[in-house]
Amino acid sequence: MPATQITAEIDFAADGKHVGYLRVPHSVHRSAYGWIPVPVVSIRNGDGPTVLLLAGVHGDEYEGQIALSRLANDLAPEQIRGRVILLPMSNLPAAKAGLRTSPLDDGNLNRTFPGDPGGTPTAMIADYLEQTLFPMADYLVDLHSGGSSLFYPPTLLRGQGHTPEEAEMLQRLQAAFDLPYAWVFTGGGGPNSTARTAMGAGNRNGVVSIMAELGGGGAVTSDILAMTERGLLRILHVLGMLPDYEPDAARGTRELHAQGSVYAYQAGLFEPLKDIGDTVEKGETVGLIHHPDTPLQASDVIVSPYEGIVLCKRALARIERGDAAFQIARDAEPL
Ligand SMILES: [Zn+2]
Repeated sequence: MPATQITAEIDFAADGKHVGYLRVPHSVHRSAYGWIPVPVVSIRNGDGPTVLLLAGVHGDEYEGQIALSRLANDLAPEQIRGRVILLPMSNLPAAKAGLRTSPLDDGNLNRTFPGDPGGTPTAMIADYLEQTLFPMADYLVDLHSGGSSLFYPPTLLRGQGHTPEEAEMLQRLQAAFDLPYAWVFTGGGGPNSTARTAMGAGNRNGVVSIMAELGGGGAVTSDILAMTERGLLRILHVLGMLPDYEPDAARGTRELHAQGSVYAYQAGLFEPLKDIGDTVEKGETVGLIHHPDTPLQASDVIVSPYEGIVLCKRALARIERGDAAFQIARDAEPL
């Protein structure tokens, strides 16, 4: 396989805090020998696990980007054991544009793994993560949100683990992050469902991998940001990497299995009739689609094919056929 063309400005093996860029070659009209500067921070203090923290894999998901840049500022090498590698804006062109996908190549980084070292910028970044950074890591935390179009409550995403040891570690990470919800993949987080995602790439590389959905709607919510920052410190602590941190009492996590998304079949303006956490019956009307361009046309109804609770909700009013209006989940075990 051809080698990556991306070079790192920092030495990941060196102790201390190091800040620089992953240089993604990008030769264009205004910059013949130019590169895209993907920010990267490595904080290392001797031996111990390596945790890779990603945000901005989707550029319009912001809590993680802020939390990682703040953590990179706040963490002193003397406080930690092992190594923390942080990428606050993993797909920098998308993040700079505030878009889910890169304006350079329409690339959705979380649908691009394993990537291509000779491909477009998004494919090159995926390949660098898959071939260079994931093999360095023991743990991956990939921070997302619902992006511009969806809103999620703070929710951890994980598989069930491929071995009893991995299953136990995923439980410990979930308990440490201590978000209100956890969406546990019933497919085992296996290669078919997640192969093109960062979490799937982590799994391929033997990295214990989790994701989180943290708000959305293209906005930042300060209480979700606080939960994110608290969760990251608690994860470093439970891994023995932040020994002097004193976690407060856990608040508890409601474990869910996804049932599926509820889709629109008409275009118009979406009015949600349910909110996050609401109970939904099978066949219940959960939203309306209005047609103010045809004022006397009756509104269409959106009916849920699932029973359960609302895990995520569309954040935008404009909706088209094929757009998800809600995602419905059920309790992993009845409460
Ligand atoms: Zn995302």
